[in-house]
Amino acid sequence: MSHTKTIWEKINGDDGKEIESVSNGYLDFLEKAKTEAEAVDFFVEKLTSAGFKDIETLEKLTPGTKFYYNHIGRTLAAGVIGRNGVGNGLYIVASHIDSPRLDLKPRPVYEDSETNTVLLKTQYYGGVKKYQWVNHPLALHGRVFTREGKCIKIRIGEDPSDPVFLIPDLLPHISKLQKDRKLFEGIEAEELNAIFGSKPDDSKEDPFKNNILKILKEKYGVEEEDLSSAELSLVPAGKARSGGLDSSMVIGYGHDDKASAYTSFRAFMDMGQPDDTALVLFFDKEEIGSQGTSGSQSNFLEYVASMILKKLNGKSEHLDLLSLLRKSKVISSDVDAAMDPSFKSAHDTHNAGRLGSGIIVAKYSGYGGKFEGSEAPAEFVAYIRSIFQKYNVSYQFGTLGKVDEGGGGTVAQDFARHGMNVVDAGAPVLGMHAPFEIVSKADLWSCYKAYHAFMLH
Ligand code: MN
Ligand code: MN
Repeated sequence: MSHTKTIWEKINGDDGKEIESVSNGYLDFLEKAKTEAEAVDFFVEKLTSAGFKDIETLEKLTPGTKFYYNHIGRTLAAGVIGRNGVGNGLYIVASHIDSPRLDLKPRPVYEDSETNTVLLKTQYYGGVKKYQWVNHPLALHGRVFTREGKCIKIRIGEDPSDPVFLIPDLLPHISKLQKDRKLFEGIEAEELNAIFGSKPDDSKEDPFKNNILKILKEKYGVEEEDLSSAELSLVPAGKARSGGLDSSMVIGYGHDDKASAYTSFRAFMDMGQPDDTALVLFFDKEEIGSQGTSGSQSNFLEYVASMILKKLNGKSEHLDLLSLLRKSKVISSDVDAAMDPSFKSAHDTHNAGRLGSGIIVAKYSGYGGKFEGSEAPAEFVAYIRSIFQKYNVSYQFGTLGKVDEGGGGTVAQDFARHGMNVVDAGAPVLGMHAPFEIVSKADLWSCYKAYHAFMLH
């Protein structure tokens, strides 16, 4: 059987250079932004140095005004007011910046004196296959808040001189107790304990734990109780890398959904002055259902849209807000599954997305009979096709997997409930939600071009 044409076979001129430039920028982003808070920091720094202003500090918005809104350092919006203001609605590209990982529990540190170790208790965040998270070097990222209100940023395990952490799996020689477990239970949730140290001090009780707590205090200014008012996560340590002998891919942690976040941010920054007001949104909490103050189910979007109306038109009536939202258009930019070469039977091969064939437009998400998903109106899919063709974007259509094989949702439904036109579109990914995932550099470029085309339309 012949292959579906890839982007590599369609590029010409400077396209190859642009693919390299987008993927190099993406490698840098993945290194710096492994958590939602780090992603917000990365974007805000770029926005402020490009002259974007916090919308709360702006008195008035006029065509060309560049602004952002940062909600508690975990969710972010950035926008440029269009020549037409908001008369034609907002053009929104929305992605998420949280990725599956292992969070520390509120009381994470415990000593196991029988094994001469001190460990960290974790709780997985998002849909993970637990057995994939053992035997990988892990880094500790996050923030600790002290009683005095101080915020201590933690990032241990990324500098080559830093220590890293590991959850060891049982050696194969004596693993009979795992033999009859099903694959998904190979490692159970309460077995996801990372080794944090193995050196005692001279205390009578808990000498291993005490030694670790001393280091935490001396090196980072963190007391044990501070760990209960912290958001600390274990994430795969190390940099993302080029993948394949032909360097056609990026292998790294967090393509879901940083591939969409980075390419939409970059397309937005390169866009210039749009006709219609363009917004990029970066949400937290998507991997656990989008609830919470930093999730897409919160009123973040209504707040931002109300502020735009108020500062652009001098008033923001409820009905004005509702009608602005109803005429807005959204790409919910989230990665999709690339057909897995070793597990093709999980896919409907006729409808599966292919690595390297471009951004996947997914008309609907959900599972089984389209339950709990969001489906784009066909006329909006046609509109998106027309824009992509106008701007020469390579794209493909796809569904996540075989109908009754499973499924998944995105932030799309949280836009649809405002009566907005919204469709899911993002890069195909192999090995999604694993500590390391694969994305094609050509598909990253295709996403960049697609989000760019949509915002300019
Ligand atoms: Mn996602
Ligand atoms: Mn996901």
